[in-house]
Amino acid sequence: MATNHTPNRTSLETLFARANEALDEATGGVVPPFQPATTFARRSDYSLVSNRHLYARDDNDVVRLAEETLTIAENGEAGLLFPSGMAAIAAVMRTIPNGGRLIMQSQIYWGTMKWVREFCARREIELVEVAAHQPAELVQTTETVRPDIVFVETPSNPWLRTVDLRAASQTCKAVGARLVVDSTAATPVLSQPLGFGADIVMHSATKAVNGHSDVVAGFLCTGDASSDFWTAIRTDRHDAGAILGSFEAWLLLRGMRTLPLRVERMSANAAAIAEFLTSHNNVLEVLYPGLSTHLGHELAQVQMSGGFGSLLSFRVKGSGKEALNVCGRLNLFHRATSLGGVESLVEHRHTIEGDVTGVPDDLIRVSVGIEHVDELIADLDQALSGAIR
Ligand code: PLP
Repeated sequence: MATNHTPNRTSLETLFARANEALDEATGGVVPPFQPATTFARRSDYSLVSNRHLYARDDNDVVRLAEETLTIAENGEAGLLFPSGMAAIAAVMRTIPNGGRLIMQSQIYWGTMKWVREFCARREIELVEVAAHQPAELVQTTETVRPDIVFVETPSNPWLRTVDLRAASQTCKAVGARLVVDSTAATPVLSQPLGFGADIVMHSATKAVNGHSDVVAGFLCTGDASSDFWTAIRTDRHDAGAILGSFEAWLLLRGMRTLPLRVERMSANAAAIAEFLTSHNNVLEVLYPGLSTHLGHELAQVQMSGGFGSLLSFRVKGSGKEALNVCGRLNLFHRATSLGGVESLVEHRHTIEGDVTGVPDDLIRVSVGIEHVDELIADLDQALSGAIR
């Protein structure tokens, strides 16, 4: 069930810290109660005890509360949680009719690209991949293809490319296409793509939204809850049952209470690390939208506020083996996939994704956590300089 609400936005800090004023009315508990029931008993006259509690696929208060909180943060009208970011993306893509058309930004999260390519082939959907961070290319392709959906990721993973959302939205509107934005790396704290004209904003809530590497979840939010597009997605989630479990939603809500605080520290740490890497002799290139040298920096300044996020990538001088050696020498960073958690992670993307998106084997992606930044930089320094553990 979608959450409809009148936006009631205080600061994001207050919204999240108080979990959108979650107070257990029965006990006064200052955190929401956890209700694992899958079904709800009826009275002897067969009426429901509560009209909002029939069966857990539709009726889950903690899920609703988490959806509402994220929806307010995104300045949206309605939001839906899914059991993973990929499930949220799949729900969007399933609205494209067989034989329809899709434009997807090239070189984005490889899991999205892999699944979407297979899905489009199965459904005979024409898929065109385009360098959407170059507005002219996006305009030209959109006018030619006239797609049902344009799907972009900004900043993108792992290239940290920035897409001009206002321009993309105008381009889409001109041909009646829907703009869907994966804003996972930006988080709902740093950017609200609906305000730039996106039809739907998507998050892998597995990442910074939860922030503790212990929940897999996805989120979609719209600024137009009555559109056919949203209705199709909402109905699909309900009928096909791609719902988030109670415990996951409860953990997600708990994680979200510190989201602005975490994002602030992670972004500050990432900015300092990006600056450090830029000046390191063994680094070829640093990809981070907060760097003034980054191609999308000016745009990122417009579309993000309060920081540039916790995700960055850098390319090591030498071969892919050098990059793997750097990863191997790190002591503080975990060598693990994913991003947005409180603990810092590094990943050699080419090992994970092979040639799906054309990622070079000298690229290391870094998810910066909330550890002390001096210790993170010292660890990177020794690993890059070739110190023996
Ligand atoms: N979008 C981005 C940018 C991601 O990085 C990921 C996962 O890494 C996803 C979507 C998929 O999310 P999930 O792993 O929650 O299915």
